[in-house]
Amino acid sequence: MTNIAFIGLGNMGLPMAKNLLGADLTVHGFDLSDEARAGLADAGGSAFSTIAEAVADADVVISMLPSGAIVKAVYEGEDGVFKNAKAGALMIDSSTIDVTTARDVAQEAKALGFDMVDAPVSGGVGGAAAGTLAFMVGGSAAAFSKASPILEPMGAKIVHCGASGNGQAAKICNNMVLAISMIGVSEAFNLGRALGLDDQTFYDVAANASAQCWSLTSYCPVPGPVPASPANNDYQPGFATALMHKDLGLAMEAVASSGSNTPMGHLAADIYETMMDNGHGDVDFSGVIKHLAGTL
Ligand code: NAD
Repeated sequence: MTNIAFIGLGNMGLPMAKNLLGADLTVHGFDLSDEARAGLADAGGSAFSTIAEAVADADVVISMLPSGAIVKAVYEGEDGVFKNAKAGALMIDSSTIDVTTARDVAQEAKALGFDMVDAPVSGGVGGAAAGTLAFMVGGSAAAFSKASPILEPMGAKIVHCGASGNGQAAKICNNMVLAISMIGVSEAFNLGRALGLDDQTFYDVAANASAQCWSLTSYCPVPGPVPASPANNDYQPGFATALMHKDLGLAMEAVASSGSNTPMGHLAADIYETMMDNGHGDVDFSGVIKHLAGTL
């Protein structure tokens, strides 16, 4: 039986841990929040109040934490994972963090004899609950093949993206495209409306023409054409503006450190930054259509 230590049992981590329990794996968890630990215990896992206790018997350590600084502290800290995990344990960090920190922590793991992969996800809280997340994995081929069967109960798609940090790279590149495409689709609906074009009519044309993309046909920012999109639910997330803003911040850090030229990415980051400044971090990111129209 594989023992798993799960660190970070929040909106994403807890439902992911539940899917591991559902696959008959043993889950020992740690979170700073009493409520999160109680959630794991209620689901049939064992909750501990220190990292050391949670990882003591673990064959695999999975983390799902808010930021790179926290991931670094949790793994490399005095009372952290590296000091307390048993030899040969596999480390999987599924948090969305900056590429540089992901590479640094993986390098430290390697120096200590641990295999580690970065495995950020897309699919959100719904995907975490349904076990249909997409995992983008960075690390050695050997670490990827050890991690894949552990990720399977939580995911529908698991892609090896290359060396350490490349999972994070794939995640931020994908979300930079998503931000840009959502803004593009939103601008087109706003312009169409200003010119007297009906939303559904424009959708019917664009969905079958060269403007077709996920932001249009799966997550349409106007109510009507795609009934499950957050636009039909007053732009409740979904994928909150605050999370898109976080991911664009990570993308812009990577742009700066790599010297890439991303004028559209910068503009998208600025637009979502303004939404945050205006107090709309809890609105779904497709609410950018209202922000652009001046109606949010
Ligand atoms: P969350 O804030 O709900 O959960 C984070 C958990 O980490 C909390 O329970 C918190 O108490 C715990 N935590 C913080 N510091 C800790 C520490 N030092 N030790 C142990 N536990 C600690 O966040 P979330 O929505 O679950 O997101 C987790 C990660 O997943 C983030 O990196 C986020 O960017 C990424 N992500 C989130 C979504 C989403 O839709 N929510 C989608 C894709 C990726």
